[in-house]
Amino acid sequence: MDSKRVHSKDVTAAALKALADRGVTIDDIARIVFEMQFPYNPNLTMDNCVESVQRVLVKREIQHALLVGVELDRLAEEKKLSEPLQSIIENDEGLFGVDETIAFGAVLGYGSIAVTTFGHLDRNKIGKIRELDMDKSDKVHTFLDDMIASIAASAASRLAHRLRDEEERLTGEELNIILNEEMIG
Ligand code: MG
Repeated sequence: MDSKRVHSKDVTAAALKALADRGVTIDDIARIVFEMQFPYNPNLTMDNCVESVQRVLVKREIQHALLVGVELDRLAEEKKLSEPLQSIIENDEGLFGVDETIAFGAVLGYGSIAVTTFGHLDRNKIGKIRELDMDKSDKVHTFLDDMIASIAASAASRLAHRLRDEEERLTGEELNIILNEEMIG
C-alpha cells in the first residue's frame, strides 16, 4: 500500500474547510438547489436540498476539484502565482475557461441533469454564485463561483433521481413480476 496515501477523512475535512474559509455555507448551496428543483417537485424541502449537498460534498471528485479551485483563487489573491497566470486568474479573464472546465468535469458523475443544470447556472448566476461574481473587493473567486455551480448542479441532479426512485420504488415481488413477464413475452 502507498504509505503516502491521503485518507478520505482528511480530504473531506479539507474540502469542507476550504468552502467555509471562502465564506460559503451548505445552506447557500442548498438554496440554489431548491430554486433549481422546486419547479419539478412541489414537495421538495430545504432539508432535502441540504442533505443532497452534503452527500455531494463527500464525493472525492467534487472535493478534489474544490481543493484545486480554491487553492488557485487563494494563491491569486495572495499574488503568489507566476505571470501571466497571476493576472489571468486575478482578473478572471473572459477567455480563461479552466475554471469552468474543472467544475464541469466534476458534475459528470451525476449525469445529464447535472450537466444541463450546470450550464444553466453558468449562464444565469443565482444566489451565492451571483454574489461571488459581483464581489468587487480584492477577493478572487474565479474558480469558486464555478465550483458552487458544480456542487449545486450535482446535488440537484442527485435529488431529482432520488425523489423519483422513492416515488416509484418497486418491491422485490413487483420486480420479479416485471422480469418474468418480459422474459416470457
Ligand atoms: Mg469563474
